[in-house]
Amino acid sequence: MEDKSPQRWAIDLTLVLKARDGDDRFPLDVKSLAKAYSHQVFPDDPVTMLKGDDLGRFEGGLYKAPPGKKGWGIIYNSAIKSPGRINFTLAHEFGHYLVHRNQFPNGLQCSAEDMAKWDSEYGQIEQQANEFAASLLMPRDDFAKQAPPRSRPTFDQLGACANRYGVSLSAATLRWLQFSEQRTLFVVSRDGFILWSRSSPKALRSGAYIKTANVRPVPLPTESLAAQPHLLENSKGRAEHPSFVWLKEPCAEETIMSERYDKTYTLLHLGAAPPWPSEEHEGEADTFDHMMTR
Ligand SMILES: [Zn+2]
Repeated sequence: MEDKSPQRWAIDLTLVLKARDGDDRFPLDVKSLAKAYSHQVFPDDPVTMLKGDDLGRFEGGLYKAPPGKKGWGIIYNSAIKSPGRINFTLAHEFGHYLVHRNQFPNGLQCSAEDMAKWDSEYGQIEQQANEFAASLLMPRDDFAKQAPPRSRPTFDQLGACANRYGVSLSAATLRWLQFSEQRTLFVVSRDGFILWSRSSPKALRSGAYIKTANVRPVPLPTESLAAQPHLLENSKGRAEHPSFVWLKEPCAEETIMSERYDKTYTLLHLGAAPPWPSEEHEGEADTFDHMMTR
């Protein structure tokens, strides 16, 4: 049982919840779910406490109960005010409990960075907990009904998904990208620089991505909407760009500024296929070394 993959855990839980509550089960109540399910499956070692507390620089953590008491505690940083981030953090820590607690008998603590991008650079453990949280909170079948893999959803549509699942806009967008059949990039920026970017599998395979790890800060393209917030209306905007604005091919940009989080979110929708013969890059880590030239 301990070797069950994060996805398998999430799928098994989804089947139980779907049988019980049907399609009206969202957003999931991770607190009661983690308690009830862990008591049922691991009655000698359950999650006994979930709460907010002062965690300093950490976003959340999984803690072993003090000596003499049984079970585990899941704590999120009480400084987090966004219900979506709290929900994702609780699910992420529940994932650590299900998959990693035997490997980390004293528990573990996780930073905001561990949860933000779902990249493997923070290590397999964090990626697995994020995969579990994303699959549990936003089951693929249900998500595909809200925003089909072949569609090109807007931030309004993805925002509606974020509300449905009780997660942040960023988490909903990343989830859609995972099963998108389009060539799409998601770019998160602040103060004119790209913080990070993620490509859909199809975009990545065709070499369309922006590398931000282990390089100097990447400025936003000067002609992009994201770099010209005065062009946005109500903090939103869309533009069609020719080649060599964002990428070496044309793209449709949608940008939205989140004042609450001091970040700018951008979707770049590309054409069905790149306008040049593509070498099929499979999604290997070193694909990121071939940076998309501007
Ligand atoms: Zn973690």
